[in-house]
Amino acid sequence: MKLTVRLSVPAARAMSQRRAFSSSPRRLDNYAFIGLGQMGYQMARNLQSKLAPTDTLRLFDINTSAAERLAQEMKSQQAGGAIAEVSASVEDAAREADTVISCLPEPQHVKGAFAAILKEKLPARSQPRLYIDCSTIDPSSSREVAAAVSSTLGDQGHFVDAPMSGGVVGATAGSLTFMLGAPESLVPRAELVLARMGKRILHCGPQGTGLAAKLANNYLLAIENVATAEAMNLGVKLGLDPKVLASVINVSTGRCWPSEVNNPVPGVVETAPAGRDYQGGFGIGLMRKDLRLALVAAKEAGASLPLSEKTSEIYADAEKEERCKGRDFSVVYRWLGGKE
Ligand code: NAD
Repeated sequence: MKLTVRLSVPAARAMSQRRAFSSSPRRLDNYAFIGLGQMGYQMARNLQSKLAPTDTLRLFDINTSAAERLAQEMKSQQAGGAIAEVSASVEDAAREADTVISCLPEPQHVKGAFAAILKEKLPARSQPRLYIDCSTIDPSSSREVAAAVSSTLGDQGHFVDAPMSGGVVGATAGSLTFMLGAPESLVPRAELVLARMGKRILHCGPQGTGLAAKLANNYLLAIENVATAEAMNLGVKLGLDPKVLASVINVSTGRCWPSEVNNPVPGVVETAPAGRDYQGGFGIGLMRKDLRLALVAAKEAGASLPLSEKTSEIYADAEKEERCKGRDFSVVYRWLGGKE
C-alpha cells in the first residue's frame, strides 16, 4: 500500500484570505462539535474563533454544562468567530451540519453517537457531509462506523479518522498534530478544518490508517518510556548523575522522546512533568487505554507484540499506587523506586 505522509499546507490561512477577497456571496457552513472534554473543549474553541461569523458551530456534550460554558465563552469573545449554539442531543447538533467533528473517549461512545446521528433520515446538504472523528479508538471500530455512514448516506456522507497528538497543551494552543485516515479526494477538505485546530496534518492513507499510525506510535512510546525509566534508574543506582546520563543518552543510540523531552527523573528536563510531581502531561490512564487499543488492533491484524504484556502490567501496577495514580506516565520511574 502506498503511504502518503503529507504535511499540512497553511490551509486555514489560504481559506480566510480567499474569503476576505471574494466578491461573490459565499455559502454558509454549518459545523457540529461532539464531545467537549479536555481536548474537545479547546479544539472547538479554536475552530469557532477561526470560522467566519456567518458560519454556525453547534456544540454537544452529554455534560450539558460543558457545552453551555463553552458557548458562553465563545459569545463573550471580542474577536467574533462562528455563531455558537448548544444542542440538546447529538442528532440535533449533526442534523444540519456539513462537517461534524467528534472527540469522544472510547469506541462505544463513537459507535453510540453515530448510531443516533444516522438513525433519522438526514436532509440533503449542498455538499456531502464530512464526519471527522478525532477520538482515539481502534481502527476496526472506526471502519465499522465509516461503513455505517457509507451504507446510510451513500456518496452524501463520509467518515474519516483523525486522531491527534499534542495533548491538552497542543489543543489549547491550536498546535495539534493530526494523523488523517481518509481517501485522497477528501484530504483537502479535511485539512481545511483540521488546520484550524492543529499545525500538522499527516495523511497516512485510507480511512482507518490514521488510527493505525496513532496506536503503533503510542505502543512504541509506552515501551520507550518504561525503558527510559529503567535505564535512568540503573544509571543513577550505579552512581551516575542523572543529568550526565541523560546528556550521554541524548547524543547516543538510546535517545528517544522520553529521554530527551519527557525525562522521568525530576530536574533533568526543566519542563518535564517529573519536575512538578508528575502532574499534567500524558496521564498514565490514557497510556493504558492506548495500549489496550493497540492490543485489540494487533490481535485482529495477527501482529505479535511480545513486550505488550509486561508493559501493560507495569502501567497497571503503577496506577494502583496512590503516589502514581492520575499522574504523567513517566511516573513509572517513581514506581520503580527511582531516586527523586
Ligand atoms: P475527556 O474524557 O476529557 O472528554 C470526553 C468528553 O466526551 C466528555 O466531556 C464527555 O462528557 C463527552 N462524552 C462522552 N460520551 C459522549 C456522548 N455519547 N456524546 C457526547 N459527548 C460525550 O477526554 P479527552 O481527554 O478530551 O480525550 C478525548 C479523546 O481524545 C479520547 O479518545 C482520548 O484518548 C484522545 N486523546 C486525548 C489526549 C489527552 O491528552 N487528553 C491526547 C490525545 C488524544
